[in-house]
Parts: sequence; structure tokens; C-alpha cells
Amino acid sequence: MEIIHNYIEKNKDRFLEELFELMRIPSISSVKSHKPDMYKAAEYWKELLLKSGADKVEIFETDGNPVTYAEKIIHPSIPTVLIYSHMDVMPVDPVDKWDTDPFDPQIRDGKIWGRGADDDKGQGMMHAKAFELMVQTHTLPCNVKFMIEGEEEIGSPNLGKWCAAHKEMLKADIILVSDTSMIAADIPSVTTGLRGLAYWEVEVTGPNRDLHSGLFGGTVGNPINILCSMIAKMTDENGKITIPGFYDDVSEVSDEERQLLNRAPFSEDTYKKAIGVRELTGEKGYSPVERTGIRPSFDVCGIWGGYTGEGAKTVLPSKAFAKISTRLVPNQSNEKIAKLFKKYFESIAPGSVQVEVTPLHGGQGYVCPINIPAYQAAEKAYTDVYGKRPVPVRSGGSIPIISTFEEILGIKSILMGFGLESDAIHSPNENFPLEQFFNGIKTIPLFYKYFAELNKLS
Ligand SMILES: [Zn+2]
Repeated sequence: MEIIHNYIEKNKDRFLEELFELMRIPSISSVKSHKPDMYKAAEYWKELLLKSGADKVEIFETDGNPVTYAEKIIHPSIPTVLIYSHMDVMPVDPVDKWDTDPFDPQIRDGKIWGRGADDDKGQGMMHAKAFELMVQTHTLPCNVKFMIEGEEEIGSPNLGKWCAAHKEMLKADIILVSDTSMIAADIPSVTTGLRGLAYWEVEVTGPNRDLHSGLFGGTVGNPINILCSMIAKMTDENGKITIPGFYDDVSEVSDEERQLLNRAPFSEDTYKKAIGVRELTGEKGYSPVERTGIRPSFDVCGIWGGYTGEGAKTVLPSKAFAKISTRLVPNQSNEKIAKLFKKYFESIAPGSVQVEVTPLHGGQGYVCPINIPAYQAAEKAYTDVYGKRPVPVRSGGSIPIISTFEEILGIKSILMGFGLESDAIHSPNENFPLEQFFNGIKTIPLFYKYFAELNKLS
């Protein structure tokens, strides 16, 4: 710990200057005119990783933005850590909402301010500098690979294909990612789960045209009424989803992990107040944290049809539509769920209407078991630096690239985030506390150390 501390103290200012130089490159992946900046960022990462101690660095072209890859292989018998980060950032508008130029990074109130301060230039830089620290102090206990992509903020459309084409090169024991946040500066946490998704648009058709609701109402099935009652049949009074077979593959979470999950600070009152509801709902037998983290959910995202203009128009519409999604948990296949939903939806449609189900998109969930060496190494590393055992968090959201890594490369990812809720990522005045930045550089070498030790044991 002392070696780590001393090295950071001696090199603090340079670490920040190297981060600032990266942040000055406006590498916005969603804006075409910034394409040259993507190459600048890829070059910068190349130089940075060479300087930091990589033996081999290469910029790879893809159908979109480039990927910078680097490695330092010490010996085939020791574990390999593959770092994933991204060099691209979100757009900065509305620019006038920023207190200072988003691409002219500054330090104020103990924080780094600017686009990418946290997401993910700041968090990516922590890995480059932790790597340098281990190389320079001769304490690097693992082989290291870096994969820095340039399209994360637009959904990583080319990275899966690139990974598939470089499977051998990317071989590793674990993927280490810092692109998420912790619960709070004094409550460390590790994201251990992400939900998957299946999403459809449904169309319910009754009569061949909109009808007069006086002349026909009562004898012709109304597609909107019918769609609503079909949707109502999708969940029961205990908050369970009624699609046959829906829960077949849901992986149940151990009592120990449920207890750990529920250690995350959660005030039901504050939660309800923040969103303006009087009562929470959901699947019986699970806490709110569990309902969003380890259980699937069913939601209608939009519904329309008939007359929605000003005033009243008496009409019995010909069609009704809805956009429907389910959040899935690990082990549920989004493709299988898509089929089960279609089959069930068609089966409960009455003869008075025809239905059409169109799948829109889907993704797999992800889980990092808390009993694997990588999780345990992360847990020990955070505990050393923060003085507290981190909380495993099952996020209700999705990061599709993480499940893609598992599908294509067959490697688990460990999400060691150091961001905070207050960092305003994707928003004006993005920032990253200096303390989190340096704590990250402290924690990462400890992860490597414990990961190497635990791998030897197992
Ligand atoms: Zn990010």
C-alpha cells in the first residue's frame, strides 16, 4: 500500500495533466464532423499506453471508429486481465449550461470538470496509470491487455464483430471495466448484474375502418378495449408475469447474496417522494431493490390508437397499438422470451380481432457471481482503500456490450466503478472528484495483487 501511495504522490500532477490532454480532444462519437478527433484520441491512447509500459500497441480499424489495443505479457502461466474502456464521449449541448468549456478541463472544489472527466476518460486513465505504477514499481502480477473502443456512447455497433475477429488476441481470465458508479463516496459497491431486455410492438386490428361508436358500439369488438384487457392479463395480482414458461430459466439468487444486496442504503419514503408516488408495487415476496435487480419486469412503454385530438369524437377505432417491454434477468434468453410472448399474446386474442407482434430489440442480461476470484479480489481491494466491504449491486439497467463479451469471448467482466451519482455524466458540468480518481488508481493495483493470489489458490 505504501509503494502505491508514494508513487501516486510523486506523480499526481503528471497523471492529471495526461488526463487533461485526453479530455481536450473532443471525441464525440455521435457527431460525424468529429471523426478526425476519434483518430486523435486513438493515437493519444496508443502513446499513453506505450509510455505507461505496454510492449505492443496497435490501432485497429473497424467499420466505424478505431479501437486501440495494447498488451504486456509477462508470462503465460500467470493470469491475464483485459481492461475495457472507451475513448469516445457524449455530445455537450446545451453548451450554455456548462460553467466552463467542456473541452478545457479544470480543477475546482476538489473535482475535475469537463466532458469525459468520469465517463470514461477519467475512469479509463485510472487504469493506464495504475498499470504504469505497477510496471514502474515492479509489482505487476498479471499479464495485461487493453481494449479501448470509440463507439460506446453510440451502442458499440462494431465492437462485437471486432472481438469475434480477434478472439485469440483477447484471451484473458477476466475483463475489468470502470464505467459505472459506486453508491456513494463512502459506500463502495460493485455492479454484479445487469438486466436483459425484450421489446415488441403489437398491433390489434378490429373492423376494416374506424366506425361510428353509436351505430356499432356494443356489437363490434373495440381493439383498444381488447388490447387493454389483453395487457391486463399479462400480470397477476401478485405482480407475477403470466406468460407460460416465462420464469423457467430465471436464476434464483442465494439467500446470502439477497442479504448483501439489501445492505445497499434504501429509503422507501425518499424513493417514493422523489418520483411522486404514494405506494410501490411489484412482485410479492421481494424488496424494491430485488424487484429491479434480480427479478424480471413487464411494462407497456406506450399505447395509442383511435381519436386523441382535441374535444370528443365518437369513434370505434379500427386499430390499437402498444410498445411493450420486459426486463429480463440472467439466464433468461431474450430470443426465447420473445417467442413465448408472441405465442401467448396471440393465444389470448379474441376472435373479434387480429393481432400482429413485431419484435423490436433485445439483449441478454449479465451476472457476475460473487464467489469467483475476480469478485473476491475486487471486494478485498475496495475494502483496503475504503475501509468497508463493498455492496454488490444488481443494476436494473442494461449494458449490452458486457453480455456480448461473455457471449463472444466467453469471459466474465467485473464492473469496478468509481463514479458518483453527482458526476453528471452525459450532462452539462460533468465532473469527477479528485479523491475518486486517485482512490481508483490505488484500488486497481490491489485488485491485480489479490486476483493473482486467488488464482494461484484455486
Ligand atoms: Zn461510459
